Amino acid sequence: MSTNESRIYQIAVIGGGAAGVMSVLRGVLNNDEVLFFPGSAKDKKRSRGFWVAKVENMPGYQGYKKGIENPNKDTLEWIAESEFKDNLHTIEKTGVTSVERMADGNFKLEDTNGGIHFAKYVILCTGIMDVQPHFKESIQPILPYANAQTVDYCLRCDGHHVLDKHTSIIGHTSGAAWVAIMLKERYNTPSMSILTNGERPDFSDEVKELMDLYKIEVFDSEIVEVVGDKRAGQLHGYKFASGRQIESYFSFVSLGTIVYNELAKQVGANVDDRGYVVTDAKGMTNIENFYVAGDLRAGFKKQIYTAWDMAVDSLDDINRKIRAEKRAKLLAQKRGS
Ligand SMILES: Cc1cc2nc3c(=O)[nH]c(=O)nc-3n(C[C@H](O)[C@H](O)[C@H](O)COP(=O)(O)OP(=O)(O)OC[C@H]3O[C@@H](n4cnc5c(N)ncnc54)[C@H](O)[C@@H]3O)c2cc1C
Repeated sequence: MSTNESRIYQIAVIGGGAAGVMSVLRGVLNNDEVLFFPGSAKDKKRSRGFWVAKVENMPGYQGYKKGIENPNKDTLEWIAESEFKDNLHTIEKTGVTSVERMADGNFKLEDTNGGIHFAKYVILCTGIMDVQPHFKESIQPILPYANAQTVDYCLRCDGHHVLDKHTSIIGHTSGAAWVAIMLKERYNTPSMSILTNGERPDFSDEVKELMDLYKIEVFDSEIVEVVGDKRAGQLHGYKFASGRQIESYFSFVSLGTIVYNELAKQVGANVDDRGYVVTDAKGMTNIENFYVAGDLRAGFKKQIYTAWDMAVDSLDDINRKIRAEKRAKLLAQKRGS
C-alpha cells in the first residue's frame, strides 16, 4: 500500500506519558489532526510514567494517587467531550513497532496489532526506564518499596523524602556516590551508605575524599534480603551475604537508564553516547519532520514539566509548518485566479 491509497494523518504521537499527552493536547488545541498511540499494556508497564505515584515537586499535583496517569486520563476525557474531539484519533492500548520514512517524505507506522498508518509529522515520546537492582537475579524484593516510593530513582522528584532518614544508595559508580554526597549535603541525613550489591566499587578520587569527609560507608557485599514491611511499603534496611545488616528507611537506585530509542534509530535519527535522541531547539531530529519530546530527548531535565515544555515547542513548530503550507497554497490560488 502506498501513502496515496491511505489516509495520511497530519501528526502521529507515539507514547501516552507526560510528553505524549501534552503533545496530543497541544496538537488538538492547535486544531491539527492527531493520531495517538498511547502504547500497549507492555509498553505502559515498562515506562517510567507508570511507576510514578506521588508527585510533590509540582504545584497542585500533591493530591493525585498516580501523578502522571490520573491527570492524563482526565485530560483525554476532557478532549473527548470538547469541541476539538474530532481532531483526535486514538488507537487504544496500542503501541508502534516500526516507523519508516517514505520516499514522499511521509512516515509509515506499523502498530502492535499489525495495523499500518501514515502521518506527515511524527513525535516520539517513548521515554526511558531506570535499571533495576537484582537480588539473586530477581527484581521482586525491591518492588513493594519501589511502588510505595520508599525506594526511589529520581533525585529532583523525590530527594526530599530522605530528610531525617537513614538513607542508602544502590549503585557502585561515581554517579551513585555523587547522589549520596548531594543528598547528605542537602538534607544532612543521620547516615548515608552506598550498597554495591556485590559489584566492585568504581569511585573517583574526588568522590572518595568526599565520602570520607561525610562518613559515607560502602557495603560491597551482595544484598541477601530487603528488610521491611512489604504491605505498607516501609523499608527498614538490608541484610548482606557478609552477615551484616544495616538500618535504612529510604533508598535511591542509581544504576543507569534504558533508553527507548529503537523507533528513532529505525528512521536514522542521531543519538548521543548514552542513547538519548539529539534534536534541535524545537525537538526535530536530523530526520525532517521527525520530532522527539520527553525523557528520550538529549540534553534536558527528566521531569514532567520539562516533558510538557518540549512537547509544546515541537507541536507549535509542527503547526507553524502546517500553517505555512496552507498559506502558500492559498496565496498560490489567489495569485493564479
Ligand atoms: C519513580 C519515579 C518518580 C518520578 N516522580 C516525578 C515527579 O515527582 N515529578 C516529575 O516532574 N517527574 C517525576 N519523574 C520523572 C517522570 O516520570 C518523567 O520525566 C516523565 O514520565 C517523562 O515523560 P515521557 O512522556 O518522556 O515518558 P513516560 O511518561 O515514561 O511515557 C512513556 C510512554 O511511552 C509509551 N510507549 C513506550 N514504547 C512505546 C511504543 N513502542 N509505542 C507506543 N507507546 C510507547 C508508554 O506506554 C508510555 O505511555 C519520576 C520518575 C520516576 C521513575
